[in-house]
Amino acid sequence: MAKIEVNTKLCKGCELCTLQCAKGLITMSAAVNEKGYKTAVQHESEKCTACKLCALMCPEAAITVYK
Ligand code: SF4
Ligand code: SF4
Repeated sequence: MAKIEVNTKLCKGCELCTLQCAKGLITMSAAVNEKGYKTAVQHESEKCTACKLCALMCPEAAITVYK
């Protein structure tokens, strides 16, 4: 089991991470951050394999993966 943490101050809502997660665990928030962007949210963290693809794809380095 693993989980990700999204730095909502850095996230710019590009949604690349949502496409990258093969398990479909990342969606975008309903609320926006202080810059007006929806931010990435992980669901069902018990299914996360800690593959780190989401973190590697993030152009803002906003995702940290914890095992
Ligand atoms: S680490 Fe891998 S499995 Fe976990 S949320 Fe990111 S892309 Fe999905
Ligand atoms: S890839 Fe990074 S900047 Fe883009 S939505 Fe995901 S966390 Fe936010």
